[in-house]
Amino acid sequence: MLKENLEEVEERIQAACRRAGRDRSEVTLIAVSKTKPVEMLKEAYDLGVRIFGENKVQEIRDKYEALPGDIDWHMIGHLQTNKVKYIVGKVKLIHSVDSLKLAETIEKESAKRGVISDILLEVNVAEEESKFGLKMEEVIPLMGQIAQFSHVTVRGLMTIAPFVENPEKNRTIFKDLHKLYVDIKEKNIDNGTVSILSMGMTNDYEVAIEEGATMVRIGTGIFGARDYGVQA
Ligand SMILES: *Cc1c(COP(=O)(O)O)cnc(C)c1O
Repeated sequence: MLKENLEEVEERIQAACRRAGRDRSEVTLIAVSKTKPVEMLKEAYDLGVRIFGENKVQEIRDKYEALPGDIDWHMIGHLQTNKVKYIVGKVKLIHSVDSLKLAETIEKESAKRGVISDILLEVNVAEEESKFGLKMEEVIPLMGQIAQFSHVTVRGLMTIAPFVENPEKNRTIFKDLHKLYVDIKEKNIDNGTVSILSMGMTNDYEVAIEEGATMVRIGTGIFGARDYGVQA
């Protein structure tokens, strides 16, 4: 099942790239393995997957220990400041930074360990009450503050679009975030460090790619539906 799912996702990514006149190499696939057992991740690993996304600190720690060292782990879920110490130095990218306080904590922990942490700023483009993330207008000011830090680098922006039946409904959200991303790059607010736009999940990744996503985070489409009742 995993093999067929991966093949289908790959084909659909390629087709979306073609439609948008983009090169396949511009889009990185993150296999979102949250709630899935280690055996399933091993199976994906054996099929060539090397980039996994997780949303819980404890789960990243456990899976990090259980799986080979050449995997890039991406923290895509809400991160509490008191848990930062457990993942700095382990994860390749933190997608979910949405406050100065969290960025400061990552800076301190990274300095302590002598590493530089790459982060994305999470933006709640649709301003949904139920979601974390910055408002669009908060992004550039926060980037200015984080630019003072020497152990944190902002690599780009991330958003979780609303859950919708028809992914076309999220197109304007992806367009809006892409516009902000281009603005940041063109005005050189980032000193050239921004090159990642993380948007698109199982239900809407093709639209996200058409609108400029450089990272898509796909869980269900690869690993199947999640069962939160009976967690491994
Ligand atoms: C769970 C999750 C995903 C993947 O969702 P699917 O709809 O299963 O593809 C992507 N991004 C974040 C932040 C998530 O928490």
